Amino acid sequence: MEQTLVVVKPDGVARGLTGQIISRLEKVGLKLVAGKLIQATKELAEKHYPAERGELWEGIGQKTLKNYQSLGVDPQALLGTADPKEIGKMVRVWLLEYIASGPVFAAVIEGPHAVELVRKLAGNTLPFLSAPGTIRGDLSFDSAYLANTAKRAIKNLLHASGTLDEAKYEVPLWFTPEELVKYERTDEKAMR
Ligand code: ADP
Ligand code: MG
Repeated sequence: MEQTLVVVKPDGVARGLTGQIISRLEKVGLKLVAGKLIQATKELAEKHYPAERGELWEGIGQKTLKNYQSLGVDPQALLGTADPKEIGKMVRVWLLEYIASGPVFAAVIEGPHAVELVRKLAGNTLPFLSAPGTIRGDLSFDSAYLANTAKRAIKNLLHASGTLDEAKYEVPLWFTPEELVKYERTDEKAMR
């Protein structure tokens, strides 16, 4: 049994997609155990996207470079650097702005393999590459190229913890233990 953090990002809330996004997770059999509509503070955003996780930002920089390569985009011309660490740092600044730019719906989703299942249902980070049937693939189209031309984060509707360790760090940032609710869903027995 795992718990994972889902945050419907400001574009998802503003587009009125919160219900649909949570509903897709619930339909699979995953359980909503906490949820709230909030405006993230700058402090929460900083903790959610920790500067000290250098490897995370470098990885994001590397993924961005790979994406540029497949599109034939010159990172030096677009961003002024081809260094994955520098690109990662830029993305982090855009992400801090993005996640705090409007209300978000934060939720904790529970179930067997919840972390991986939610990632699968969310789809690829880049909406223009996410498969049909996934939340991002069905409901959004943004790309690194579009986002970075406008010097902003990729609008991909939701955040979902990437690993169980990430989930264990992220859930307590957004929720107190009392906010995590225990209850039984009527369909749980059928899935045992
Ligand atoms: P995921 O959200 O799928 O876990 P990552 O952890 O790799 O993806 O990246 C975190 C977030 O950073 C993404 O959801 C996306 O909003 C944003 N992002 C990633 N790469 C870029 C980029 N090149 N430009 C702008 N935003 C980006
Ligand atoms: Mg991630």
